[in-house]
Amino acid sequence: MTLNIVVCIKQVINPDYFEGLTLDPETGSIIRDNVPSILNPVDENALEEALRVKDGFEDTTITAISMGPPQAEEILQWALALGSDQAVLLCDRAFAGADSLATAFTLAEAIRKLGTVDLILCGNEAADGATQQVGPQIAELLGIPHATYVTSMHLDNDGSVAIRRSIEYGHLQMTCRTPMLVGVLGEINEPRQVTADGLISAMDKEIITWDAGGLGVNAEQVGLKASPTWVEGSYEKRIVRASLMLEGTPAEMVRAAVLTLRNEGLL
Ligand SMILES: Cc1cc2nc3c(=O)[nH]c(=O)nc-3n(C[C@H](O)[C@H](O)[C@H](O)COP(=O)(O)OP(=O)(O)OC[C@H]3O[C@@H](n4cnc5c(N)ncnc54)[C@H](O)[C@@H]3O)c2cc1C
Repeated sequence: MTLNIVVCIKQVINPDYFEGLTLDPETGSIIRDNVPSILNPVDENALEEALRVKDGFEDTTITAISMGPPQAEEILQWALALGSDQAVLLCDRAFAGADSLATAFTLAEAIRKLGTVDLILCGNEAADGATQQVGPQIAELLGIPHATYVTSMHLDNDGSVAIRRSIEYGHLQMTCRTPMLVGVLGEINEPRQVTADGLISAMDKEIITWDAGGLGVNAEQVGLKASPTWVEGSYEKRIVRASLMLEGTPAEMVRAAVLTLRNEGLL
């Protein structure tokens, strides 16, 4: 069986650094200097799942796609080193400011341009935007079924896909047919490590870059202009806490605490 798999991967700010992030007071955008970016954690699982399918079906081509700035090449390079056959970067200033629908449209157009695709794998959720909308929207735009919250999947020779989804209070088992889109959770697998051979072979693989023109879309169809939602404003919420140490017997401390809260207008 010949299989074409697309894996959508996104570069995100390392969640370990979310705590210390600050905003540019002028533009309201995140100051990214010295903040490391990584491959969105569950996208690693999506990629691993694609590689496992490829392990079972020899004639499989994996294409990793990312929409993002030029730096997103790093995660595509990583995907190539892990075993993806090709990588596509969707990069154009016109794509900036995209909400989840415009992001999904751009990715869906790229997938269409690739030709016949049997399986699209996404992470269930990006660690930064976290809307969980991009995968299902891609599927809707392409007119194919999708399954989200997927904790296990098995593709058969006849193109049927046995899926296990995590749902509230349990799980749901379902069977779908390719072409379909799957949004995976982290528990689906343990991603493999990149090898030295993988890194070397990635050097021979090219990252294809498509801008709006290359994708065959006009600037009105992508980015902020095509986004039905947008960020109206952003602000930093600073929580200032003052601590007060009370002394005395428990009864005295309770009395002092109540008095303080009353004086602050909190009781
Ligand atoms: C109103 C609004 C305005 C926004 N404006 C901006 C802006 O000005 N600038 C900006 O940078 N962002 C902006 N964003 C964020 C941007 O829309 C999201 O980062 C993007 O749509 C992905 O959505 P998400 O992070 O919620 O992904 P989710 O839907 O949570 O991601 C699920 C999966 O989809 C795939 N995926 C998601 N995004 C990509 C991608 N780019 N490439 C490949 N695969 C992907 C991955 O597999 C991921 O695991 C805006 C979002 C909203 C809602």
